[in-house]
Amino acid sequence: MMKRAKKSKINNKLHVKKGDRVIVISGKDKGKVGSVSKVFTAEAKVVVEGVNMITKAVKANPMAGIQGGLTKFEAPMNCSKVMLYCPSCEKATRVKYDVVNDKKVRVCKKCGEQLDV
Ligand SMILES: [Zn+2]
Repeated sequence: MMKRAKKSKINNKLHVKKGDRVIVISGKDKGKVGSVSKVFTAEAKVVVEGVNMITKAVKANPMAGIQGGLTKFEAPMNCSKVMLYCPSCEKATRVKYDVVNDKKVRVCKKCGEQLDV
């Protein structure tokens, strides 16, 4: 009997994707707005530009041309801490889907602003 391949595909699609403008709704960066630069679907985490900055000590590695010292970079954060940001309402918003030119686009539920550019 053939063994059926296990369904390993993770399909927990996040409510945000790369390039989205989001606003932080909890934590120390609450209220900050930035765009999503990375999405980790499996972990349900996102990296938002300028948000959740952490400082990391980097060891000098002259061979690789790396200077030692402290570097600041954005750490991934749980996607539940961010919501899509509507530039028109200037706040976090819920989205609905609309079809424009046979394309599914996300629009702001409140003002109808298209959020997919
Ligand atoms: Zn809006």
